[in-house]
Amino acid sequence: THFGFKTVPEDEKEALVKGVFSNVAGNYDLMNDAMSMGVHRLWKDGFVSELDPGRRGALRCLDVAGGTGDIALRILDHARGNYYDRETTVEVLDINPEMLKEGRKRFKKTMYHNTPQVSFIEGNAQELELPSDTYDLYTVAFGIRNFTSIADGLKEAHRVLKPGGVFACLEFSKVTNPLLSMVYNQYSFSAIPLLGSILASDRASYQYLVESIRRFPPQEEFARMIRDAGFSTGGDFEGKGGSWTDLWGGIASIHKGVKL
Ligand code: SAM
Repeated sequence: THFGFKTVPEDEKEALVKGVFSNVAGNYDLMNDAMSMGVHRLWKDGFVSELDPGRRGALRCLDVAGGTGDIALRILDHARGNYYDRETTVEVLDINPEMLKEGRKRFKKTMYHNTPQVSFIEGNAQELELPSDTYDLYTVAFGIRNFTSIADGLKEAHRVLKPGGVFACLEFSKVTNPLLSMVYNQYSFSAIPLLGSILASDRASYQYLVESIRRFPPQEEFARMIRDAGFSTGGDFEGKGGSWTDLWGGIASIHKGVKL
């Protein structure tokens, strides 16, 4: 491959991923803004609005690979702002303690600090040390492509959700339009690692990020994996349309599944 990550064995990938996010933790929010030109904020807003937490009462949520808490904060703000809900809770789970540290720091400045509404857990999405049938909502944003085994991550998501609970994933995806795809590839393969080396003096970590996006399965295949884990994805069960939403021509997409 471009950057030689293909030769990294599965058991080493976990250490590699840990290293990448330790290196970027302090700069993570800044880099996100720079690389996506702020667009990740709009996508995250859209993702949470679509889930509409608080609408049907308080939820117990698990935000996996939650990093610095972008999704958690939006869930709590949405539920409070729209439904005066101060009962919804989010547990932010991440494998990387440095990311969680940034998250904790950030929540100190919010009204959720020192309330039961938010908590942080260090853990691996593929082996959750959490009880089964517990959560109403499982979210994962820009995290699942880093799992060593996506299938194991999905299996665990299914296990910890209550029956009727919702799995929701926001992730970089496959651009379908060939022209857009060309422009996007050009940008991601040259501009992102360059920005990484300038802003974070860490080209290799950002090359890994780009590479992980390229290797993530296309929409149809990912939707099939979600169904294989035991979720209903609605829409057309042959995997064409219906079961996911593309954002910006597929640069990212939202996949949802309901635990039956
Ligand atoms: N969800 C946040 C957001 O949207 O801003 C953070 C996304 S960040 C690109 C990916 C996160 O996934 C990192 O914080 C990383 O530590 C975490 N991660 C990677 N592999 C993981 C695993 N197996 N279990 C839990 N977290 C993991």
